Amino acid sequence: MTPLIYIFMRLRKNTTKSDILCHVVGVCLYKIKEFYMNLLSFMKEFPTEQSCKEHFITYRKGKGVVCQKCASTEHYWLSCKEQFQCKQCRFRTTLRSGTVLHATKLPYMYWYIAMHLMTSTKKGFSAHELKRQLGHKRYEPIWAMMHKIRESMGLADAKFILKDSVGIDDAYISTYTSMQDRVELKRGKGSQKKSKVTVMVESIPLEKNGKEEMYMGKAKLVLNPSEESENIDSIALQNIASDSILFSDKSSSYVNLKNYFEENIQTISEELKSKIDLKWINVTISNLKRFLLGIYHVVKERYLQEYLNEFAFKLNRRNYTNKFDNLLLNSI
Ligand SMILES: [Zn+2]
Repeated sequence: MTPLIYIFMRLRKNTTKSDILCHVVGVCLYKIKEFYMNLLSFMKEFPTEQSCKEHFITYRKGKGVVCQKCASTEHYWLSCKEQFQCKQCRFRTTLRSGTVLHATKLPYMYWYIAMHLMTSTKKGFSAHELKRQLGHKRYEPIWAMMHKIRESMGLADAKFILKDSVGIDDAYISTYTSMQDRVELKRGKGSQKKSKVTVMVESIPLEKNGKEEMYMGKAKLVLNPSEESENIDSIALQNIASDSILFSDKSSSYVNLKNYFEENIQTISEELKSKIDLKWINVTISNLKRFLLGIYHVVKERYLQEYLNEFAFKLNRRNYTNKFDNLLLNSI
């Protein structure tokens, strides 16, 4: 309970310390129950390796298989071989081929548990923690599995673009700095390497109690190592619809955006912070920093995009009731 809630409750008449304590315990029990119920229902649905594999087969059949040889989508399922056979050229496709599980030997259950934990937890889940929970000996395969899942998350978000009213800004994220990098970094700029991430967030106007308020829509986060404005232009063009109105600060990096989009409203940085249209950019950047620092501490720049994918996937599906299904369908 935050001090603010405590003060608020104390100010209310007839509210004793024990009432507050009961309230806190109630909230905690509800949260614990909610978490374990989710975990229990997951374990009830996928109690064994076989149950996970059968579920995977059903989803794979449902989505369809494309023949790598002749591009036909007509296949027989060979249950004894656990393979798909093309009706045209008889080419066989294994169950894992062409999916996120391609070229891995880890059990289906590992993948299902990883996807469940990575989508059901609000914060991230480290590979060390997952290795420990699974009781697996080696760290590397678990780390690689989680990174493949993050790639799938990125592919899922690549299927849509942002539209209407979109804020754009750069965030500077502390990333792993080797001793050599520390020496090369100029004095006065600090010894910690910062990686630039271009953050784009939709603002959706909605009327509430007769007042128009801006709500947060979808977001995209792209690692952008270049200082060139052309790079920002290309990132924006790939991720935002051209008939959108953009909001940015007065940085020279955004100077060309007005040529590609309906309008680019540029405000000076201080104004930007208080501007309602861009408040979601600041909220997203501060949540991203907490997400990375809380679980992953300092990540290497070359893997940063994958962590950005995970953050954006969860953010964009914050209201989904079944993120697991959504991720699985995008991984097959
Ligand atoms: Zn074929």
